[in-house]
Formats: sequence, structure tokens, C-alpha cells
Amino acid sequence: MTTLDTTDHDDWLVRVHHRLTRTCQDQTAQLAELTATAPDAAEAAAHNALLSAARQGLADTVAALRRIEQGRYGACEVCAGPIPAARLDLLPHARTCVSCPR
Ligand SMILES: [Zn+2]
Repeated sequence: MTTLDTTDHDDWLVRVHHRLTRTCQDQTAQLAELTATAPDAAEAAAHNALLSAARQGLADTVAALRRIEQGRYGACEVCAGPIPAARLDLLPHARTCVSCPR
């Protein structure tokens, strides 16, 4: 039998959801810290880059959590094919499969 065991899949999805929830908390804390810091003029550009990377990371995480809640998680946004679990383990917020461009 090669059929996907739904119970295993559900367990896996619950673990991914946990991971993303933790990442979300970390990223929220990081963003709050960055927002609270006032850089001097020399560091403003670097600080802004960090800030936008943190915002983007948090947005990606929140979007992935929303996809899980809506039952759309793990489908490629380009070709609608399944994203391999191994890829999602490495990159839980991945929106596309390996063959499609980001
Ligand atoms: Zn694809």
C-alpha cells in the first residue's frame, strides 16, 4: 500500500502548524524589538533592511498558517501540484513546488 495515511499526514500537519506558530511568535518578538530600536543615521539603511526582512518573514509565516487553516497548505501556487513534504520540512512557508519558480 502506497496510499497516504491521513492520520500520519494530520500529525505532520499539526507539527508544521506548531513550528510555524513558534516561528510566528519569534518573528513577532524580533519585529517588536527592531521597531523599538531607533538607529542612528549611519545605521538607518541597514536597520530598514532588517525591518523589511522581518516584516516579510512574518507575513510569509502568517500566510502559511492561514493556508493550513484553510486546508490549502502544501499545494503549489503556480502549478497546483503537491509540494513535497521534505521541502516543506525545510521551508515551511514555501508557496511553490521545486520545479516552479518562486
Ligand atoms: Zn509547481
